[in-house]
Amino acid sequence: MAIFHYDHDLPASFIPSEMIAVDCEAMGLNHFRDRLCLIQLSNGDGNAHLVQFHSTYEAPNLKKVLTDPKVIKIFHFARFDVALLQQYLGVLTFPLYCTKIASRLTRTFSDRHGLRDLCKDVLGVEISKQQQSSDWGAEKLTDAQQHYAANDVLHLHALKKQLDKMLLREGRAELAKACFDFLPARAYLDLSGWAEEDIFHH
Ligand code: MN
Repeated sequence: MAIFHYDHDLPASFIPSEMIAVDCEAMGLNHFRDRLCLIQLSNGDGNAHLVQFHSTYEAPNLKKVLTDPKVIKIFHFARFDVALLQQYLGVLTFPLYCTKIASRLTRTFSDRHGLRDLCKDVLGVEISKQQQSSDWGAEKLTDAQQHYAANDVLHLHALKKQLDKMLLREGRAELAKACFDFLPARAYLDLSGWAEEDIFHH
């Protein structure tokens, strides 16, 4: 595994595969208060590419990948990150796949849908969440932070593969696709004041 670190943007030479794993780290969980600090990407080849933001969010090369209609972006809990990317980069990330939604639609026997739980239960891989609440706004990230951040994207391709099999088996692949396609609207609702209220509720 190699971890590549960049400041401000991906290099122009970066080529995404047709499915790319994406995750973000921010100063906290409030889209309006807590800035986006880091984006992690993986082409599913065991390598991770980290783009660290300091003050500006220009990042034209990164935005091109996030909005490329031919590149599926795999997230775990896409709802949060898609809203964050909209808020800070001003782009709508699409098309999407979310391993958390896929897990909720298939692994109905479990209430454990966190990334750590999924990696353990579906792949038999132990990942640490120790650095989750560290200072992602630091000028220089520690090795521990970089490894943690990389780990959040390194298993998403393998998870998608297993979850896709389960979605097919349970006849929920189309429902999952409809949910993934709705994620931009869900993120937009979060940013528009409907984060808590369920507009589908009676
Ligand atoms: Mn993460």
